[in-house]
Amino acid sequence: MQKGAVVKPSSTIERQYSAVLVAMVKRMNKELLAEIPKAYARRDDEFLSEEIAQDESAAVWLRKYVNRFFSRWQKRFDKMAEARAKWFTEQTEKASTKQIKAMLKESGIAIEFRTTKYVNNILQASMAENVDLIKSIPAQEHDKVLGIVSRGIQAGNDQMFIKEELQKQFGVPEKRARLIARDQSLKAMQSVARARASEAGIKIGVWKHRSGSKVPRKSHLAMNGKEFEIEKGMFDPDPKVQRYIHCGELISCRCSFSPVLSSFDPNAMAKDSVTLTISKK
Ligand SMILES: [Zn+2]
Repeated sequence: MQKGAVVKPSSTIERQYSAVLVAMVKRMNKELLAEIPKAYARRDDEFLSEEIAQDESAAVWLRKYVNRFFSRWQKRFDKMAEARAKWFTEQTEKASTKQIKAMLKESGIAIEFRTTKYVNNILQASMAENVDLIKSIPAQEHDKVLGIVSRGIQAGNDQMFIKEELQKQFGVPEKRARLIARDQSLKAMQSVARARASEAGIKIGVWKHRSGSKVPRKSHLAMNGKEFEIEKGMFDPDPKVQRYIHCGELISCRCSFSPVLSSFDPNAMAKDSVTLTISKK
């Protein structure tokens, strides 16, 4: 059995993607922190003069302020999401295709891949998923901040308290941004590699388990080193899964595969996708 190398995620793409998302989150959080004293000052101006500085009114006012803040930032994230997701999927396609091409070349099969409907569909799906994920970052934080502000007001209108509580949770959206970049990098890389291997007429892969978390999936550990049909995936016997899955499909799954190059069948190639030269060594 002649195996290719294991399809690897691109740490460069992941790092760049993550850096952009985290930087955006940091800008948003910095601005939010700077806005809180301003919000308090304006609230005091409006309420103190009218002697209706009741907790409830203050809470309503601050909530409105927070809503306005996040609707502004949601628009910024929405605008950034399309461009970033497009960049990410295009880069990943290039890197993934390059790996499969190199493995084939190593075994004397020179292939030029074209953009196919198959790969294009994968990229479109990945892009849509990434757009949604990016957009969900401010949306999730919005809810959290509303909770903090409400609790802060109940605890006695102290803006220092609110600022401290906000800072405490700033790590959460940053961590989420990093997780999105990492998880999506793994997924997209594997999806494209799977499509390219299949288009090149390679039907069989060997599952490679890679542990990313402290608690590796037992079923994936057991799948390590086993052959499977690339298009079909491998059956995951975990009671919570119980179906055929692909490498990197489940959340935080870092598993990958090596194409079995000896399963190469020129007749199984997708004719529209490749031009082929075989030079048997
Ligand atoms: Zn896995």
